[in-house]
Amino acid sequence: MNSETERFASAAIANAPFGFLIAGPDGAVLSQNRKSEEILGSLIGKNMGSIVSAFDVAGSCRDCLAGQKTIEVKEAAWNGKYLKFFFVPADGSACTVIVEDITEAKTVEKNREQFFMVASHDLRTPLAAIKASAELIMKAYSNDIQNENAKKLIANIDLASVRLIKIVSDFLEAPRLEAGRIAVTKERFDVAETIRKAVGDLAIIATNKGISLSYDAPRDPLPAVFADKEIVEQVIVNLIGNALKFTFQGGVTVSSAADDGMMRVRVTDTGVGIAEQDQQMLFGKFRQTDENFIGRGITQGSGLGLYISELLVGMIGGSVVLEKSDLGKGSTFVFAIPLAK
Ligand code: ADP
Repeated sequence: MNSETERFASAAIANAPFGFLIAGPDGAVLSQNRKSEEILGSLIGKNMGSIVSAFDVAGSCRDCLAGQKTIEVKEAAWNGKYLKFFFVPADGSACTVIVEDITEAKTVEKNREQFFMVASHDLRTPLAAIKASAELIMKAYSNDIQNENAKKLIANIDLASVRLIKIVSDFLEAPRLEAGRIAVTKERFDVAETIRKAVGDLAIIATNKGISLSYDAPRDPLPAVFADKEIVEQVIVNLIGNALKFTFQGGVTVSSAADDGMMRVRVTDTGVGIAEQDQQMLFGKFRQTDENFIGRGITQGSGLGLYISELLVGMIGGSVVLEKSDLGKGSTFVFAIPLAK
């Protein structure tokens, strides 16, 4: 850098909207910009580690300099704030520290998570009551209702309550999974049975939409898998459920084959397909493709299904991927489950 660019660089750093400090190998602060003073107070001539007690500042400086690599401290709670730090090696004997105050974003995130937890919890009981009542009317009082439209309306109430309960359960399940609060019980079993059960349970949805749903079972028995049965069932139901949701002609086929120590369950549909730019982000939290997000009437989901599936699958040492998708032609998802030894 020539002296002019150096002047520009120091002016930019002085006015930058993030905190910037230069520290010696032990954390002694040599210089700092205005924003860092706002966040941490005046530290010139002081040791940053003796002021910022949230983590090992001197250790981070040392690691940064010894390894000549950037050290990131994603979140440190200090003095009623949440801060994010980067330690970047400047040269052999000093490191630059970039600090950001993320308190506001963190508070918003915490409030949002808490809101979802409380709201989901409080929604569950009345929703279960709506579902139970609709089911009871359909079972016990269906002879008393002569009007076909009234019968259809009650069936709609039942269907909508089932969907809502699923969304609410997703909202409650995601944080439990993220926190690792779920017990996994692995056992040997035949996945073909699980697939047959899922296909049987979901057949009514396919029939109502006028599309097909079938399990292309192999002639010979499959080798057993070793996994948590409930997790496997939940993921298969989610993949078939999605395939049915986004298919309006043709149908959904499930197949299964073992190779390389894994059982691969393939769910192929002839549905709307997923645009290439959307394929990467499907497994993210609350992710839905643009078209489906705008047309939520079609998706009627939470955008958490695949996110939850991926977390669950990780717990049994398997994987779930989108193998192939063509817009307007359909998609294939593959769920790999470890085989029993
Ligand atoms: P949701 O509960 O909204 O269905 P998912 O996480 O299960 O959430 O799926 C995320 C998004 O991925 C869906 O909203 C949809 O846009 C897309 N998607 C998933 N499966 C399929 C499929 N078989 N065909 C087309 N799009 C799909």
